[in-house]
Amino acid sequence: MLNSLRSIVQEVNAARDMKSALAIIVSRVKEEMKTQVCSVYLRDIKGDYVLMATDGLNADAVGKVRLAAGEGLVGRVVVREEPINLEHAEAHPSYQYFPETGEERYSSFLGVPIIHHRKVLGVLVVQQVEQRRFDEGEEAFLVTMSAQLAGVIAHAEATGGIVAPGAKATQAKFLGVSGASGIAIGEAVVLTPTADLRAVPYQACKDVDAEIAFFQRSLTAVRDDIKSLGEQLRARINREEQALFDAYLAMLDDASLAREVTDRIRKGASAPYAWSEVIIEHETIFNSMNDPYLRERATDVRDLGRRVLAYLQESNQKARVYPDKTILIGEELTASMLGEIPKEKLAGLVSVLGSSNSHVAILARAMDIPTVMGAVDLPYAQMDGRPVIVDGYKGAVYSDPSAQLRKHYKAIYLEEQALVKGLEALKNLPCETQDRYRLPLHVNTGLMADVVRSLERGAEGVGLYRTEVPFLLRDRFPSEEEQRGIYREQLEAFAPHSVTMRTLDIGGDKALPYFPIEEDNPFLGWRGIRVTLDHPEIFLAQIRAMIKASEGLDNLRILLPMITNIQEVDAAKALIQRVHKELLEEGFRVRKPQIGAMIEVPAAVYLAPELSRRVDFLSVGSNDLTQYLLAVDRNNAQVADLYQAFHPAVLRALQYIVYAAHDAGISVSICGELAGDPGAAILLMAMGFDVLSMNATNLPKVKSVIRGITFARAKTLLEEVMRMSNGDQIRDHIARELRDSGLNRLIRPVTSDSN
Ligand code: PEP
Ligand code: MG
Repeated sequence: MLNSLRSIVQEVNAARDMKSALAIIVSRVKEEMKTQVCSVYLRDIKGDYVLMATDGLNADAVGKVRLAAGEGLVGRVVVREEPINLEHAEAHPSYQYFPETGEERYSSFLGVPIIHHRKVLGVLVVQQVEQRRFDEGEEAFLVTMSAQLAGVIAHAEATGGIVAPGAKATQAKFLGVSGASGIAIGEAVVLTPTADLRAVPYQACKDVDAEIAFFQRSLTAVRDDIKSLGEQLRARINREEQALFDAYLAMLDDASLAREVTDRIRKGASAPYAWSEVIIEHETIFNSMNDPYLRERATDVRDLGRRVLAYLQESNQKARVYPDKTILIGEELTASMLGEIPKEKLAGLVSVLGSSNSHVAILARAMDIPTVMGAVDLPYAQMDGRPVIVDGYKGAVYSDPSAQLRKHYKAIYLEEQALVKGLEALKNLPCETQDRYRLPLHVNTGLMADVVRSLERGAEGVGLYRTEVPFLLRDRFPSEEEQRGIYREQLEAFAPHSVTMRTLDIGGDKALPYFPIEEDNPFLGWRGIRVTLDHPEIFLAQIRAMIKASEGLDNLRILLPMITNIQEVDAAKALIQRVHKELLEEGFRVRKPQIGAMIEVPAAVYLAPELSRRVDFLSVGSNDLTQYLLAVDRNNAQVADLYQAFHPAVLRALQYIVYAAHDAGISVSICGELAGDPGAAILLMAMGFDVLSMNATNLPKVKSVIRGITFARAKTLLEEVMRMSNGDQIRDHIARELRDSGLNRLIRPVTSDSN
């Protein structure tokens, strides 16, 4: 059963459009269940359930039979949200007869709902002549099938807005979550992992003859590779394995394969796209064969396909010229991909996977690049070269926008530029409320580019320097001396203000390319301080570099990430003390830095009183603290709406941490993304946080809101929300407060909801 389920889902996934996906579903399910009919009904815009595909009923009925929820047996399945299994369908009071279907011949009926994200998308029905109830196993099969297909159908429906490659484009909208606010209007550039046949973006070919010649050259190159590989291995492999090389060469020499590809190039597709389409089709044919030997050949086709594709893409990448307003799109964008494009050309980012708390989104906010994350339905492979609008406020992406929509967004873009200009005036004004409560605002940095922007925006120190960023951008660990240079730049740029440097925080979704950590559950695994305490050589080099870099400046503070146990703080402190002592002995005139612990794990919240007695300050990493308190992966778009920064449990934990730190007489700051949310900043100030640290982009907005409110009002607002037990209610309450007091206007241009 599992095999047939898998193979059906695989085939449906490979279908190029909704119509062929539905055709595969009905014919394959009918075949597997050995019934006489299988049909799919899907909900249309009006909310009716329409027969969209059938194998067994009259084909003419497709698109004509429609039922409202509650109407007929199909409508009953919809409202009950569970299967209906009948041996004599006609006898059921809900039965409705549609003469155009010819279904009167079929006695038994099994209908199961197709449910995605709590919504009934449609109904999957099987019918047969013989009057008998479908047995338990059959019902379970159909329920499993439907659960698996629900996601595929939802995806196919959502992506249906975009037209087939090469055809005339119409505007389509795709929703994700906001990664970094702002509007970007530009041209899509799709970055894909190389040699992935299923991720080749559609590109049109401009010069057919040149493209065909390029394709032929790539085939020849792979042919030569395979021949020389075969030669090298001749003595070591047996006859059967040698035959594989011959089979590969035969495939490459096969004139019909090459013809299929050149035909598609002549119709306008680029060589990589045409090649990947042909190879996927051949792979699917082999995959569906009954003979296990022939089925196995699908792997060979895929392997060969990848080899040729690698050649085709390599030359393509080199020739790439980025448009002036590049909107970078990828299935899973990573921090290092951002480096591939000149900064001045990068206008916006869209990632199909990931959420607003992924590190690429954090970097995007620091770089002020409008970003949408988790746009799961975006058919990114078809987006390359298309005009795109990124609405980083709402988390929406528009492909092929109409002139009217462009005009609308252009106006918002200009309004936003004016707003930023207006906020520049705040640079030298203190961050204080109208009743003169002073709250220092610090910045989070990682890139050298952040430093200039932070100073321009009036930051009063660095609350979090993510040292892993320079580590991520290299191809090996930076040496102690290299690190000293990098850290010195940060410390010098901000002196005499303090710079809080966090020790290397890798693991989770931050993997160094040269130090891979493979884990099933990386966010609960080897992360942050756990890695560096296990590798004292890495930790000690970093601490030495930091302390040496602070010589003569004395503005360094060291922050320890992912603290879960008291022993971790004790061990790290002992190492830092040792380094300091050794450096003094070596003649460096360096001061012992203040040491702080990050509170980002629930255990550390409850240990806050003890931790506060051991360190000089606390800093709350609310990004991780929220994910661990709510058990919601910060990277998973599927559960992004459960990641509630204003969840009452999060707010209560934050308040508890402030009390614990202040009881012990130490200061406490917050450096998660929450601090950069203007509405949240008001609450955090009222809770008593001594410093808020955020990305440079948000700093002027937060300052303008704090300067627009009184501390007394902020306190009252905090008391009001602390009595609430529902995160949505809290968010709405704060939004209302900002709106009523006119502060909303200072921070966010209004993007119309009508689009
Ligand atoms: C946090 O977890 O809130 C934090 C600041 O650290 P990072 O986002 O780098 O994990
Ligand atoms: Mg963290």
